[in-house]
Amino acid sequence: MPSAFGFRFDNTYRRLPAPLFSDCSPQSVSTPQFVLFNDRLAQEMGLDSKALSAHPEMFTGNAPLEGSEPIAQAYAGHQFGNLTMLGDGRAILLGEHLGDDGQRRDIQLKGAGRTPFSRGGDGRAALGPMLREYLISEALHVLNIPTTRSLAVTATGDSVLRESPLPGAILTRVAASHIRVGTFQYAAGQQDPALLEQLVDYTIARHYPALKGAENKALALFEAVMDQQIDLVVGWMRVGFIHGVLNTDNVTLSGESIDFGPCAFMDSFDPNTVFSSIDRQGRYAYGNQPSITQWNLGRFAETLLGLMDENTDAAIEKATHSLKSFSQRYEEKWHAMMGKKLGLFGSEAEDDALIADLLTWMHEQNADYTNTFRDLINESLPDREQYQSDAFQHWHQRWQARLGRNRKPLASSLCLMRNHNPAVIPRNHLVEQALEAASDNNDLAPTRALLAALADPYADRDIDDPYRQPAAPGERVYQTFCGT
Ligand code: AMP
Ligand code: MG
Repeated sequence: MPSAFGFRFDNTYRRLPAPLFSDCSPQSVSTPQFVLFNDRLAQEMGLDSKALSAHPEMFTGNAPLEGSEPIAQAYAGHQFGNLTMLGDGRAILLGEHLGDDGQRRDIQLKGAGRTPFSRGGDGRAALGPMLREYLISEALHVLNIPTTRSLAVTATGDSVLRESPLPGAILTRVAASHIRVGTFQYAAGQQDPALLEQLVDYTIARHYPALKGAENKALALFEAVMDQQIDLVVGWMRVGFIHGVLNTDNVTLSGESIDFGPCAFMDSFDPNTVFSSIDRQGRYAYGNQPSITQWNLGRFAETLLGLMDENTDAAIEKATHSLKSFSQRYEEKWHAMMGKKLGLFGSEAEDDALIADLLTWMHEQNADYTNTFRDLINESLPDREQYQSDAFQHWHQRWQARLGRNRKPLASSLCLMRNHNPAVIPRNHLVEQALEAASDNNDLAPTRALLAALADPYADRDIDDPYRQPAAPGERVYQTFCGT
């Protein structure tokens, strides 16, 4: 029986062994008020969105949701290369909701108060970063990239102290699960093989049920997660997304994007682009995301060695062999993705150079990544000076000739391109402006307008549309902050 508001909780993670979580309740807040409520997601989940939208207190500690059994999850993680004990320091998992669509979804409150894993932190979150997570996760979702979702941002009425007092908020996050590579690192650190095996079985049952009968479950899980992670990073590369903090605690086993801190979308194409203020070495730069994903998968493989083979050398051999296939698997998927961005069907030996030459030209010219690909869809290129150069014209002729050799009509190429090259992305300067207006002046209008503009990112939009413009020199944002 669903409870009030249509929630139907079935909390399987809480039935796993105790070290994996701690019981803990969200704290009460002063005056809960919805800042954003995701009506469409609520409906997708089979919730009574109309009733729920009048009860923001349900997404705080003020009123427990019937059937929820709140916990903070334990996990570790390599942060910028160093292994640390982490856990949900400011997030509380209410439980797993079973939707009418048969999907099991975690419902988590981020910024809900202190937990046993809070270390020195206050367990709270400021409005700006929670709005950023809402905006970016919902944008990625409509861009067809797997991601955790955002059901609501609830203002608490309390202020949180960062460098100055800021309005506090709670994000209601919805995820396929919150199992991370860091969860496995934590479980492996418990020196209890049975615990680790239970986590493997649980993850397989929840995310990869087809692997249940696999001969080597740990290896099969590793390979399946690798494939999901490759698809994910190829999706990010397609739209110019830079996660910003690809620590192992921010890598999910489900393959969803998670934990949007200083993330941002790149304007002009440059593989070295970094926005995060804390990423001084460029470890998580746009162009490093594939190799750092492989590195993170290496840490995941290490946790599974004991289950891959009794003999350590044999286990290392199996894991290494598998991990080495990352590069080839990634390259294949990346080329297929780039081929779609250029409307190519089939593959020709010359395609690699065609793709590489365009990217080199874009880098040299500081060309806008999103707009350049979208401009190619037009029958005649827009009147931009960059497109008049001999170098570009020469590339364009090669590309046109290649399209001419497609076995499918031009209309099919254009359709393919339209579906893989967004017209609108969350431009970083617009995101920053929206968050500032909300946080400093309690003005939600820019956030709402941006959300509306992002709702249908592949639809044609006028070339002069403000949501399509890269930052003007005076608007440019060079750094983004976690704000934790
Ligand atoms: P994140 O940057 O969101 O991936 O968080 C990294 C780690 O820091 C996680 O263990 C979080 O739970 C913890 N953390 C972040 N902000 C806070 C906070 N305000 N209070 C307590 N823990 C926090
Ligand atoms: Mg995290």
